[in-house]
Amino acid sequence: MKKLFEIKKLNMHYPLLDGLMGNIKGYVYALNNVDLDIYENEILGLVGESGSGKSTLGNCILKLIVPTSGEVLYNENNILKKTKRELKEFRKEAQLIFQNPYMSLDPRMKIYDILKEPFSIHKIKDMKLINEKIEKIISYTGLSKEVLDRYPHEFSGGQRQRIAIARAILLNPKFIVADEPVSALDVSIQAQIVNLLLELKEHLNLTMLFISHDLSIIKYISDRVAVMYLGEIVEIADKKEFFANHKHPYSQALLNAVPVISEDKKNKKIILQGDIPSPQNPPKGCKFHTRCPYATEKCKIEHPEFIEIKENHKVRCFLANR
Ligand code: SF4
Repeated sequence: MKKLFEIKKLNMHYPLLDGLMGNIKGYVYALNNVDLDIYENEILGLVGESGSGKSTLGNCILKLIVPTSGEVLYNENNILKKTKRELKEFRKEAQLIFQNPYMSLDPRMKIYDILKEPFSIHKIKDMKLINEKIEKIISYTGLSKEVLDRYPHEFSGGQRQRIAIARAILLNPKFIVADEPVSALDVSIQAQIVNLLLELKEHLNLTMLFISHDLSIIKYISDRVAVMYLGEIVEIADKKEFFANHKHPYSQALLNAVPVISEDKKNKKIILQGDIPSPQNPPKGCKFHTRCPYATEKCKIEHPEFIEIKENHKVRCFLANR
């Protein structure tokens, strides 16, 4: 499998400024030495509680946020070093679908103008081509041509997300970050949008980073699963391996929160206690030790490496091989 992205030692540390003097009084450690590969034509599911750094990672990969340090190689080129012009080309190929379809569409613009906008940004002026493309994509996403003359407020959440997806795929992207794309929608609509993304992935040969806090959706849509906790990837594996043989206590805790999967009798049932610690002041040693029922003295002091316990399965835990 070819790597589309290689993310190396990615850090995003937001400075916290003193209100009066503007001095730096600390940092929010949103991403910490993240290493991650994304393979062509896969859907990589990224799961974790809110505050774990998932969205920051998605934004850094697209360079919508400039990370503090590290590399994001896209087809072996570091996008963090791209010029403005090169970055514009990259943006045609890499798109973002937002969580909230109520916020991501300009309420003052008709749907046709919303969908025409990406062509204008990229100075594409051939109106015949633009109109053909818009009509084609609209039908791909299960909408009719009639929507083009209407405004976003005239649509339901599910329809708006279809429009947002149509806009994201207009310029033939190769890669999409879908950041909690169904969490603002009714449960009855979620499956329709997830199925649409799966169809489009096959039809358009897309690669996708699918961000969610919901493991049942991740299980349905993903080829591989990565688990994030306090700005670190703590486990990654192929989907089948992950759901059959997850090793990190945090993965176990997330799975225990999903009723249909929690019949796993092999592992002690871990119920997550308390909130995720502040990324401003993350625990020393293993970042999960404050909530981990297996934590030892060593866990409080030493930071576990991200080790491969079998092919394509990596875990950040001292007990991963137990
Ligand atoms: Fe728990 Fe220790 Fe493993 Fe961290 S390293 S997850 S604290 S057992």
